[in-house]
Amino acid sequence: MPPKIPRMSTPVHHDTSAEAAKPSNFLRQIIESDLSHGVHAQKHWAGSPGDAAHHAAAAVDPAKIRTRFPPEPNGYLHVGHAKSICLNFGLARDYGGVCHLRFDDTNPEKEDQEYVDSIIDAVHWLGFDWKDRDGHENLYYASNYFGFMYRAAEYLIETGNAYVDEQTPEEMRANRGDFGKPGVDSPYRNRTPAENLARFREMRDGKLPDGAAVLRARIDMGHPNINLRDPAIYRIKHAEHHNTGNQWCIYPMYTFAHPIEDALECITHSICTLEFEDQRPFYDWLLDRLGEGGLIARPQPRQYEFARLNLTYVITSKRKLKHLVDSGIVSGWDDPRMPTIVGLRRRGYTPASIQMFCERIGVTKDYSWIDYGTLEGCLREDLESKAHRAMAVLDPLPLTLTNWAEVFGSDGHVEACSLPALPHAHEGQAVPERHFTLGREVWIEREDFAEVPPKGYKRLYPPRLGADGQMLPGNTVRLKGGYVIECTGCEKDAGGHVTRVLATVVPDTKSGTPGADSVKVKAAITWVGVQDGVQAEVRLYDRLFTDAQPDAGGKDFLALLNPDSLKVVTAYVEPSLAAAQPDDKFQFERFGYFVADRVDHSASRPVFNKITGLKDSWAK
Ligand code: ATP
Ligand code: MG
Repeated sequence: MPPKIPRMSTPVHHDTSAEAAKPSNFLRQIIESDLSHGVHAQKHWAGSPGDAAHHAAAAVDPAKIRTRFPPEPNGYLHVGHAKSICLNFGLARDYGGVCHLRFDDTNPEKEDQEYVDSIIDAVHWLGFDWKDRDGHENLYYASNYFGFMYRAAEYLIETGNAYVDEQTPEEMRANRGDFGKPGVDSPYRNRTPAENLARFREMRDGKLPDGAAVLRARIDMGHPNINLRDPAIYRIKHAEHHNTGNQWCIYPMYTFAHPIEDALECITHSICTLEFEDQRPFYDWLLDRLGEGGLIARPQPRQYEFARLNLTYVITSKRKLKHLVDSGIVSGWDDPRMPTIVGLRRRGYTPASIQMFCERIGVTKDYSWIDYGTLEGCLREDLESKAHRAMAVLDPLPLTLTNWAEVFGSDGHVEACSLPALPHAHEGQAVPERHFTLGREVWIEREDFAEVPPKGYKRLYPPRLGADGQMLPGNTVRLKGGYVIECTGCEKDAGGHVTRVLATVVPDTKSGTPGADSVKVKAAITWVGVQDGVQAEVRLYDRLFTDAQPDAGGKDFLALLNPDSLKVVTAYVEPSLAAAQPDDKFQFERFGYFVADRVDHSASRPVFNKITGLKDSWAK
């Protein structure tokens, strides 16, 4: 076992300021140590993956390190994958290296082009690419290495390190032993290399049916680590592969394929999640054997493990996410409530916020849960200085300014108003402005009027009888960026439901004019003009689950769905939003951050998604 590495120690200083800003972690320390000792300095790279001879003939690799992100193209990437992407591509970027995008497509049947495309898209969108300095793209498919993998298997057989086992799967399972019990040698374990080779070639040539035999590494059936008890490395599967068609009817097992993929690509640091810690001895065993035989370039890759991301209120199991999609609980893989990268993107999350999140949660070897609020906090931090402000009325109630013609000469008159689009522009930057108009009728938020005001209520309420029997005037408020108004009453329907608020405008109190402060008010309310407001569909998304760990401890995740995870309202937004393009993000004053939906939004049918509120409403 390598020595335990301390987590999150004091930052190490680097020569560039970009690196210096990053907190250190155990992986950075390993890489820095390797770089300072020149561990990979003499590594050659032929510009494409290959065996030892292929690389030996080439020049020294200009990339200081090589990492890889190796998804299986069998589903959409989620926020957990984002952590792995930011980690692998981020380390390569920070240390003068390259990160490969490798499709781990060694398993026939399961893969699909749709997933390949969505993965490429997701990694690009997160802000990364897989180019060498000369522009060469390091995008690879593990299935292109089947030929070499087969050769490596024959090499292991020839050197007495692998054998064809023809026990039944049940026998193999029983003879593997368990934690406290050593395994039992297979009766096929001592076949000669020549016998094994002949039999393995029959497997390759399709002479045996699925399951009739497997090729196993020959290590130690009594090893305390069960992964070293002669693990299976090749199995028979008469299945067509999307890349190699029917060329093969035997396929390598993941534990055999993965180290070889890393070696052929000259990966220096192969970073994976902790579940693979017990596989590391086999990873090293295999590459040691292939290195001895001169098959793979040296120094060989090393595997390092980190704790996977567990995020509260989120499910990351592909099977369960698929169930949500297939059963129509969500609208698709890109439903804004899904933790997929396409879902986060449609919800309005930015690449910068996700990168910030991955940076902030850090990399450790400790199992832990990250609060969903941390991700939302990163979004707020990213958008606070960037998202233009706008007013929106999400629960609209009309209000009429009954003295409008008296004050302004006609009912049709409108007053031009403006507010800054960003509250604090950077130094030297002009503050962008948004323009809108105030007329006789406006939309206000239903909760901003109370016929009978609760104690301490500062918004609109009508005149009422005081304790001494005197009539008290209605309350005054400012229409934000407009005039002060005084509430005079309301209209109701037969059911007693308020249908309209009545008020009067107080002359000479317009925001930004000398008279603005002549009347003191306790509240300014948001509003949108009826004459220039834009009707919009607003989708108020919230967490999909009410339980912080919907997928833990055998819980029934379907019983924990949040019934209020989506509310759709017809809202009015200020006219500046008429020009919004899909993906444009805004801060709707008082409500939080919203994005023009990238699928459904158009100028003729505006649709906005709520990304997150202004503060964490789920925090205890
Ligand atoms: P499967 O069960 O289908 O293997 P998977 O989530 O492991 O699902 P892969 O395509 O194999 O999917 O994952 C690609 C990479 O993403 C792997 O290196 C894996 O370690 C990493 N990864 C997956 N889930 C997480 C997570 N929650 N946190 C960090 N990394 C993750
Ligand atoms: Mg996996």
